[in-house]
Amino acid sequence: MPDAMKTKHIIITLFLILAISSTAFTVAAKDEIRVISLPIPASYDDAMPIKVLLSRTAQIDIVSAGYLNVYDKKTHAFVTGFMSFPITIMFKNGSLYINDQYMPCDKLHLVSPSEKFTIKGRTYSGAIDIVKSNGQFLVINEVDLETYVKGVLPSEMFAKWPKEALKAQAVVSRTYAVFSAIERKYDDVHVSDTVSSQVYSGMSARTAETDAAVDETRGQILTYEEEIFPAFFHSTCGGHTTFAEFVWRVTPHPCLTSVYCPFCWESKYYTWTTTITLDEMEKKLNEKGIITGDLLAFKKASVDTAGRIIEFEIESDKQIVTANANDIRVLIFPDIMKSTFFTMDASSEHLMFQGRGWGHGVGMCQWGAQRMAADGYDYKVIVRFYYTHSTITLLPHVEHEYFDLIMQ
Ligand SMILES: [Zn+2]
Repeated sequence: MPDAMKTKHIIITLFLILAISSTAFTVAAKDEIRVISLPIPASYDDAMPIKVLLSRTAQIDIVSAGYLNVYDKKTHAFVTGFMSFPITIMFKNGSLYINDQYMPCDKLHLVSPSEKFTIKGRTYSGAIDIVKSNGQFLVINEVDLETYVKGVLPSEMFAKWPKEALKAQAVVSRTYAVFSAIERKYDDVHVSDTVSSQVYSGMSARTAETDAAVDETRGQILTYEEEIFPAFFHSTCGGHTTFAEFVWRVTPHPCLTSVYCPFCWESKYYTWTTTITLDEMEKKLNEKGIITGDLLAFKKASVDTAGRIIEFEIESDKQIVTANANDIRVLIFPDIMKSTFFTMDASSEHLMFQGRGWGHGVGMCQWGAQRMAADGYDYKVIVRFYYTHSTITLLPHVEHEYFDLIMQ
């Protein structure tokens, strides 16, 4: 079909089903829904390391300050040691090698008395694990919780933002990390160092302001009825946050619901406008296997109470697909859809999006937290505002003489 004719045949119907109808919902099988409230084991110790995935590769150079010992991660047996750097770790013929020396195991644990490693120009504290994985290997930083949060904070929030906003982010990032460590207790990796978990830059980005915010909230996490939950957060909600279960396949949680936020108006992405051609949209949806054939309609199938889109209905000449709106945003149109909080306008060749906010919209709105802190709210008020019904709790084994006093 010629392009002009095809364009003529594409009819984009835009409508909203204002009520969230249960029939519009793709209900996942029960076992696919992730439980997001977990008890904190009494044995949980904040000295237990967070395991952060830094890289998946077939070759990497590592520099250590001082000598470095390599152990078999499973048996704890000493394998070899190095005095001069960099060392080059390689995957070849199904095995791990360091400086061409064969490593007789699948998982390595690299330790240096300095606890300092440089990888791709960044410095990391703690230890490094190397784990074979599908023809490559994973490079993992094992780092204690508080040091990890210090490596996250300056990457997730501007260090010059008000201190109470930084402290709120410290509690939120710590909670997210501890939840992941409990949930993935037996895995090689707890979190990645990207936005898919929370951005972590090791020691390199740390500042005095962000370190102080972590120290002043040491050991503090968010709980609900004594269980921990993943304290999701995002840049800008655009006026309303949303329910976790509308964004991911997770159990509903009383602390991860929709909150009216009048605070994030200073964000660059409080409102935004983007455009895509219908041809481009059709191409991308086909490339990613969402539809096959000609795109006929791209509609909102369901929205939350504030109007944020939960699901799209996408129609081609071969099928009608209902898809989670956040999945489509992240996987296919990250540059076009800054959030799923938008309205659409169609012309014969384009689709224009008028949107609000940046990110998934669940949990704390960072630009909102910044304004609340600037308006004089302290971090306890900020986190309880975004995570309704939550309590700030101290992790087991963390001692704080005045904790009960400051929480009053
Ligand atoms: Zn907001």
